[in-house]
Amino acid sequence: MACCLIGCGSNQGARREQLDRAIELLGVMPGITMRAVSRHRETRPIGGPPDQAPFLNGACLIETELGPHELLGVLAAVENTLHRDRTERWGPRTLDLDILLYDQLVLDNDVVEGSALTIPHPRMTTRRFVLEPAVEIAPDLRHPLSCCSLGDLLDNISQAHLHVAIVGAPGSGAAEVANAVADATLARLVQAPAAFPWPRPAGLPNVGSQSAAWSAALSACARPLESATWPDDPHGTVADYWLGSLLVAAEDAFSPTGLGRFTAEHAAVTAKTVTPHVAIMLRASPRTLAERVAAADLAADLGRLQDRLLARLRCGNQTGARGPHAVVVVAADDLSRATDEAIAAVEAAG
Ligand code: ADP
Ligand code: MG
Repeated sequence: MACCLIGCGSNQGARREQLDRAIELLGVMPGITMRAVSRHRETRPIGGPPDQAPFLNGACLIETELGPHELLGVLAAVENTLHRDRTERWGPRTLDLDILLYDQLVLDNDVVEGSALTIPHPRMTTRRFVLEPAVEIAPDLRHPLSCCSLGDLLDNISQAHLHVAIVGAPGSGAAEVANAVADATLARLVQAPAAFPWPRPAGLPNVGSQSAAWSAALSACARPLESATWPDDPHGTVADYWLGSLLVAAEDAFSPTGLGRFTAEHAAVTAKTVTPHVAIMLRASPRTLAERVAAADLAADLGRLQDRLLARLRCGNQTGARGPHAVVVVAADDLSRATDEAIAAVEAAG
């Protein structure tokens, strides 16, 4: 038996009746036992077309013998029974049922018979409309990628001054996206004061002048994030970089001894800075990254760097990199769509 958390929403038709009916239908499905149901709360729509009606959102906790894809199929069937129209992304809906958590299972775009499933739900960590009802019924459930409880995730986005970092490999478009997010949310923009020191210029030894260049980049990038001088911006802060990225990139550039020294230096410098609460990770295909930095021969290296960045972000609180609790991965081959997703992810925390 798996313990699953389901998110429910409706902003079209008889919202409360539809949500109640959905819970009732789910509870009588073979292989599903309903364990807890949250209250419904009214929330403002985030993303999608303008002028949508407000949502009612809730969550329920079930136990199930169904596998994750079978469960998704059952949720789609219940949505269909309640006349779900799927023509417009993030458009108005009579009923939306999402698998938020399925035990501690992690699936990344797992495709079975044409339907792609990602678990935990990829956008849940910054969505107040998801976390508030979820915490009402299951505050101690652990989010397997954030390595903390749902209660911690809700506290994390409830900071008076939310600090968001837009993170990606060179060519991800982080600077453009951060700019747009800051504009849309009125947040203060913090731009990387130094170029990302990657890759290691061919032929340079990883000692002497080169390690000095990394140290200089590290201290320049740390300066705007120093806790002692960090201002209390009423609309939060958006940075177009994450200090942890330097540590990940350094793994490609240093010998083991040099990396040990840089890691210690990085830990000392980062300890005096603020850690982002939210990271938006821009993930593009290695080819797109390489095209954007005009270095076709680096595609594979950029792809590997990007994978390691994501891995480090996800367990960031348990590593020297001091990562954020909430990480939202956004597809960044199309930057205009990535910008919309990033803005929606930050607005959802408010
Ligand atoms: P959102 O989940 O952001 O509110 P939608 O409800 O429109 O957006 O979902 C878009 C698609 O995501 C669905 O068609 C579904 O097949 C897919 N999907 C991937 N992972 C999940 C998940 N964990 N729960 C529900 N749908 C998912
Ligand atoms: Mg959905």
